[in-house]
Amino acid sequence: MSKRLKSPEVCADCSLPDPRWASINRGVLICDECCSVHRSLGRHISQVRHLKHTPWPSTLLQMVQTLYSNGANSIWEHSLLDPASIMSGKRKANPQDKLHPNKAEFIRAKYQMLAFVHRLPCREDDSVTAKDLSKQLHSSVRTGNLETCLRLLSLGAQANFFNPEKGSTPLHVAAKAGQILQAELLTVYGADPGTPDSAGKTPIDYARQGGHHELADRLVEIQHELTDRLAFYLCGRKPDHRNGQHFIIPHMADR
Ligand SMILES: [Zn+2]
Repeated sequence: MSKRLKSPEVCADCSLPDPRWASINRGVLICDECCSVHRSLGRHISQVRHLKHTPWPSTLLQMVQTLYSNGANSIWEHSLLDPASIMSGKRKANPQDKLHPNKAEFIRAKYQMLAFVHRLPCREDDSVTAKDLSKQLHSSVRTGNLETCLRLLSLGAQANFFNPEKGSTPLHVAAKAGQILQAELLTVYGADPGTPDSAGKTPIDYARQGGHHELADRLVEIQHELTDRLAFYLCGRKPDHRNGQHFIIPHMADR
């Protein structure tokens, strides 16, 4: 299943050549130093993974590769590309900058404050905007345009949004359409492959029903990722989901 990234690129944050890490939820490649800052921000801000030392599910790597090569970084640096901001002296970090404070401050502004995205992301209480963006996401995942979906997610669209008119979530739509890379992106942002729609069917059901077996298998794998890690930690074995072997972790309650 594991694949490797081919061409050497530059770090999305400081432009150092040959980045060895990816931020999965941001769709960018980053260098060792910048990665240390990403880690310090936590997984809710950046989910980092080594490009070579960690095995990758092939479609997850493809998702990151597609986002990266289609310029996902410009989502996070949108206003920096504006000539007015160049004139004002705002700039991204460069390889010669010090990690602290220069690179670290830039990375925090870029991903934690979202200081350079093309408009301020909606606040949590701004439910109308969030709902609107989520509806756009719901229809966008039917196509293969990952950057549009990442942009919507970056602005506050909810990956688990249940569309009351359609009776389903974005992951149901992606699964029906066989959009495996969209499914990867949505699940990175917390979409649940086991959520039922208004007909009681899950995204896994629709993928299977539409003959998208690779997608269905991958969704089952994603659904069990957390319990698999726990099972491996507890008993050193991993189940074979493709052949119907699942491990159940019993409820542990302090009575
Ligand atoms: Zn860097």
